[in-house]
Amino acid sequence: RQSWMERLKAGLRKTGSSIATVFTGTQINDALYEELEDALLMADTGVKATQHLLNDLKRRVKETKTTEPAAVKALLADALADLLLPLEKPLTIGEHVPTVIMVAGVNGAGKTTSIGKLTKHLADEGQTVLLAAADTFRAAAREQLGVWANRNTVEIISQEGGDPAAVSFDAVSAGKARKKDVVLVDTAGRLPTQLHLMEELKKIKRVVAKAEGSAPHEVLLVIDGNTGQNALAQVRAFDDALQLTGLIVTKLDGTAKGGVLAAIAQERPIPVYFIGVGEKIEDLETFSAREFAQALLS
Ligand code: GDP
Repeated sequence: RQSWMERLKAGLRKTGSSIATVFTGTQINDALYEELEDALLMADTGVKATQHLLNDLKRRVKETKTTEPAAVKALLADALADLLLPLEKPLTIGEHVPTVIMVAGVNGAGKTTSIGKLTKHLADEGQTVLLAAADTFRAAAREQLGVWANRNTVEIISQEGGDPAAVSFDAVSAGKARKKDVVLVDTAGRLPTQLHLMEELKKIKRVVAKAEGSAPHEVLLVIDGNTGQNALAQVRAFDDALQLTGLIVTKLDGTAKGGVLAAIAQERPIPVYFIGVGEKIEDLETFSAREFAQALLS
């Protein structure tokens, strides 16, 4: 089995090779920068981050008096790593007991899988975890979370039907009473355009604070790395509604182009606590700006 870095590189290979061809010529000229602009836009980097990267790169080329196109690629890796650096921040647990983490995301983004992986990650660090199935409407969603709870042998608060906010309240209360380190609240998948469901999320956030004054301590959004600029739109919408504290970017082992992280760094620099690099329970990695930039341009 490949290492996570190899899987990340394999996932981003197409992007990497289309950017790499930009640097195969003999001259650094406008044509090179135009080609690079196209390649970055194709990689989901978005207009603003692309412009930022091009300007930053031109400055670096000038400052270092670089004349070889091949050397420009290394400068681009530096520029990209610097842009991504604000996203590199670890999730820290322990200031509050329990630390209440609310997790949102559109259907299919990999939310439930990521919660399962995160539970294992936390358990490996010695944290006790309680899961809350706040998707009270979809039986399949509850069952799926239940499977991850079993796999991790952690407790789950789940209730058929009823109010998602009430289940979340119960879970946080139980987490307090049972002295759990972390309560992970899985919310129903939704589209940002489903405004009533956004209201439901806001309500969960409010009600959780009634069970524990400072909660939720983290509000995470799970986004599918394959969805490009759409993922950026999700980040904006969920951040406007919920004031996100962190992101999990999934499926970077697949066909993701990866540039969306640059777009996020430019427009909404919300920490990427983890990246998903596979379907297995251990396929969750902390985000490193430098490693990501290198994988993207490898
Ligand atoms: P949810 O609807 O957001 O809860 O999404 P799920 O957690 O059910 O995941 C949807 C699909 O994506 C499942 O088939 C997962 O196995 C898959 N998936 C989730 N994360 C990753 C990842 O990092 N890499 C890959 N390759 N697949 C993933």
